[in-house]
Amino acid sequence: RLAAAVFRYKDPDVDAMVARARIAQATFATWSEKQVDALLLALARRVATEARTLAEATVECTRIGNVDDKTGKIGVASLAVLKTLFGEPGSGWLDGGGPDTGVREIASPVGVVFGLVPVTSPVATGIFKILIALKGRNAIILSPNRIAQPVCAALARSVDDVLQAEGAPADVVQWVTKRNSRRKTQLFMSHAGVDLVLATGGRAMVEAAYSSGNPALGVGPGNAPVLVADDADVDTCADNVIRSKSFDNGLICGAENNLVVVAARREELVAALERHGAAVLSAEETAKALAGPLANGRTRMSSELIGRSAADIAAKLGIRRERTIRLVVAPSESCAPDNPLAHEKMAPLVSLFTVPDIDAGLALCKQLMQLDGTGHTAVLYTRDEALAERFGNEVAASRMLLNTPATHGIVGATTGLLPSFTLGCGTFGGNSLTDNVGYRHLLNVKRLARHDPEREAVFDYMNYVNPSAALTSQVLGFDSLEVEAEGCIVRDNRGREFLDCLAGVGVMNVGHRHPRVVAAVREQLERMPMSSRLLFNARAAELARRLADLAPGELHYSFFCNSGTEAVEAALKLARAATGRVRILSTINAFHGKTLGALAASGRDVFKTPFGPMAPGFEHLPYGDAAALEAAMGEDVAAVILEPVQGEGGVWPAPPGYLAAAREACDRAGALLIFDEVQTGFGRCGRLFACELAGVAPDLMCLAKGMSGGVVPMGAVLGTVRAFQVFEQNAFMHSSTFGGNPLACAAALATLDVLEDEALCARAVELGDFLCAGLRSLQAQYPEAITDVRGLGLLIGVEFADADVGAQVIGGMAARRVIAAYTLNQPRVIRFEPPLVITREQCEHALEVFHAALRDCLGRG
Ligand code: PLP
Repeated sequence: RLAAAVFRYKDPDVDAMVARARIAQATFATWSEKQVDALLLALARRVATEARTLAEATVECTRIGNVDDKTGKIGVASLAVLKTLFGEPGSGWLDGGGPDTGVREIASPVGVVFGLVPVTSPVATGIFKILIALKGRNAIILSPNRIAQPVCAALARSVDDVLQAEGAPADVVQWVTKRNSRRKTQLFMSHAGVDLVLATGGRAMVEAAYSSGNPALGVGPGNAPVLVADDADVDTCADNVIRSKSFDNGLICGAENNLVVVAARREELVAALERHGAAVLSAEETAKALAGPLANGRTRMSSELIGRSAADIAAKLGIRRERTIRLVVAPSESCAPDNPLAHEKMAPLVSLFTVPDIDAGLALCKQLMQLDGTGHTAVLYTRDEALAERFGNEVAASRMLLNTPATHGIVGATTGLLPSFTLGCGTFGGNSLTDNVGYRHLLNVKRLARHDPEREAVFDYMNYVNPSAALTSQVLGFDSLEVEAEGCIVRDNRGREFLDCLAGVGVMNVGHRHPRVVAAVREQLERMPMSSRLLFNARAAELARRLADLAPGELHYSFFCNSGTEAVEAALKLARAATGRVRILSTINAFHGKTLGALAASGRDVFKTPFGPMAPGFEHLPYGDAAALEAAMGEDVAAVILEPVQGEGGVWPAPPGYLAAAREACDRAGALLIFDEVQTGFGRCGRLFACELAGVAPDLMCLAKGMSGGVVPMGAVLGTVRAFQVFEQNAFMHSSTFGGNPLACAAALATLDVLEDEALCARAVELGDFLCAGLRSLQAQYPEAITDVRGLGLLIGVEFADADVGAQVIGGMAARRVIAAYTLNQPRVIRFEPPLVITREQCEHALEVFHAALRDCLGRG
């Protein structure tokens, strides 16, 4: 290399060949797939027809291997390789890119390939490289090992004939024949006009290719261990190993080199090997062989034995058996680097190691592969899938073969691997890939990637909205963009339809985009969406009157706002003002919203801790515990705030008598009773307001969510005359700029009409009962997984023994396109909270999907 750098060798031959190759490649690049396939077919046929002659010529000049097997090998390299190419796209658009990625792949040639042709398989490797290079519209320059020059010249003539007959550019395949030398090879490998080196050869050649400065695909030596496990079929193993390792007299790089057998099966394996024609040497025979012609006392097998037949080798070693010897098996113990038997043996000769158990066997296989053959091939004989998996995980081989002859297995004759004569060994073996190299490796696959609005939205969400919320949605399987909704159906940007069993967390009670609500909003939008705040707003006035009519008890005035938490905020302030007291009694696990006042009323610390200190005066009692409420009550209490069904706390309907007891306690102490009906209101639980079911009316009632039909956000607090008395002091004591805007009021008025006209409260009862019954029967089927099913109307919670199961079930439902979610303060509970317009069939579908997701999750699929 130093010399090359100093003297800057040039060779006009090399430059001329590369230049010609580039010109030929430019013309060839315009060939159609049909033309190329016709050319490849003709080439493969011609070489297959001449396989025996070429095999004979190979053995004659290289003096290694045998004619029969080389004939077969040439057949694989021509016809089996052709089969992997023919009809496949080798240029232009490929089918790849993956579904729904918006990425398309385009094949374009790498250009001029320089291919080394080894002495072990000159014809097979030669034709293989020609076929895969031409499929990708590349030109190739082949450089045969010097000993193989005569047979390569014969192959070149046949190839040239076909190229000419098919009208291919003359120099698309060229051979380095004249005065080939190491220096010349190096000039080619580092030539600026060569685009890729395909280095099949000895270690030195591969290293030279990698350090040439040009991209290179290389291979590594083999030394395949064969691990024979306790449960192996040793007879098949012996037969396979003999057929495989005697093939072409052991010249296949991935063929078996070392048998590693567990002690319990050694005798049987030896007997089977003998039965199938192997000579298993005695300790004395082995020692004699090592000292003699096997290694001549050196640390590597003598090169004179490479590619000789087993019978020849046996004769040389002075080993005699009654039958023809097909394989020599030499027992060995040490895998030290000075043991020739532990290294690669390119001959029908294998070592035989005995190990106490499978762990020791695996360890030995790994050690052997450290010596030689790192990353190449390893073989296992077992029936145990778990062991096969362990082998696959632990052993660093690019090809791991199970119960199959290695020679045949590595080229796909007895496995599904790609027929190839260039086998990568990965970085284990100093190569860039572990693949069986094929035509795809000789393509520059370009990718045309389209702008994808879905990915952009997710990326922006991740970056500009809320990274962890984005992650949660994706983990749960909600990874697309919502684009359209109608009734109970949400459609995404991929055109998929989801059945909505969450209704925007209880917002879409009348279904998504109810036409009457949309029409009312549209009409208002055309006139005046927002209020002047000084002139009278007829919509707000009408809505307040209707709510006063519909609401239970003495609820009379309405204060309009825009969300649930604002409604709660207003209720808390009004209660304090009306009573002149501070203490507010709430419940553990209550959810009232996340602004500071509502948060103080809420009953779960995780959502409070980072934002402290909380507003003072709030106490949290166990939900449903009337005695606790009674005990905490006093004449300093401004209000008690309760959800008629604790929604986010895990869907807990108030126990019978609880709300009435709260009413009584408040009345006795002069405190106000606030019902938070943000989630339970507007038909969700089977009545317009859930508290009606208990026959108890509050002094203040918080509303939002379903109030305005899921079209415009809105909230409200309704109160008695007493509760609203602070406004007598100042009309603007509490206010909201957007509160009661005409657009939201128009939506709310239309929503009330729809709830009434479509009798959605009754529907919530009927379908709620139906869903609950279905879920309860699943609870009976899976009592260990589902611990409770409870709810009111169409607010139903399913409680799991394990929160992870809940999350997985939601994911499983998402995958089957049903939207569900867990409750915010109780992740073990997932809820069914669909639009009240859901049909019975849709409920059945939701149940089926829930069941399927649960079965998957419990592994009963
Ligand atoms: N109150 C209850 C009972 C709720 O369920 C919720 C929200 O889930 C709120 C208040 C807060 O409503 P918003 O998110 O509109 O502020």
